[in-house]
Amino acid sequence: MNQTLMKSDMEKSAGAAGVQRVLVVEDERDIAALIAYQLTREGFRVETAGTGTEALQAVGRDIPDLVVLDRMLPGVSGDEVLQRLKDEPATAHIPVLVLTAKREQEDRIKGFEMGADDYLTKPFSPRELVLRVQAILRRVQEAGFTAGGRILRAGPLRVDVGSHQVSLEGEELNLTPTEFRLLQALIERRGRTQSRRQLLEKAWDVEAGVSDRIQTRTVDMHVRRLRSKLGPVGDWIETIRGFGYRLKIPEGQG
Ligand code: CA
Repeated sequence: MNQTLMKSDMEKSAGAAGVQRVLVVEDERDIAALIAYQLTREGFRVETAGTGTEALQAVGRDIPDLVVLDRMLPGVSGDEVLQRLKDEPATAHIPVLVLTAKREQEDRIKGFEMGADDYLTKPFSPRELVLRVQAILRRVQEAGFTAGGRILRAGPLRVDVGSHQVSLEGEELNLTPTEFRLLQALIERRGRTQSRRQLLEKAWDVEAGVSDRIQTRTVDMHVRRLRSKLGPVGDWIETIRGFGYRLKIPEGQG
């Protein structure tokens, strides 16, 4: 793989070039606003959700780099949101910092068992929260780069997000960084249609200023190349006319 491309690709994953996104789930508006303010000031892109349902919808639209999750929410509780995130292969890797008003040791243990990465008891200082968020993300990144990190699977495809290696039935594939990110975006949101713009944002880090015609052409061209490199699995990338693409994994292929 081209060294320059590889380097910029890793920087993007490491957050040096790309902005890291944090979803803050908290029904108390003042607290949510305070957290959002502090994180934004530290350079994070922050989205807030006031209920568990909103949180799950937000994650469904766009997978964040980290979730700050209050346990006490109206309706779907924070614990339930955490459970749902950890049960779903596409979201199980997202690190979660849990906020709680309770001090009981038991709750703490339960949270960790359910997969929370860290825990903060209210009231907390916003500065402390920022430090914890940064520490978790650093840990995740280090793990990702040294130990190979997160593995995504789709049938015979194996995608190592940490080392950027993709293999098909054990045979390593040579993808460009853009093709890699495109594939990652399709696998992470398997079964769901993504517009060309969404794919463009994921794989190219482009947000605005690109005309629709160029977007369409760029994405279509890369999807075409990716399909041909993936062989039979390439057929799983479906074109949704007038909208975008979707990775549809056939029944029984996992
Ligand atoms: Ca709350």
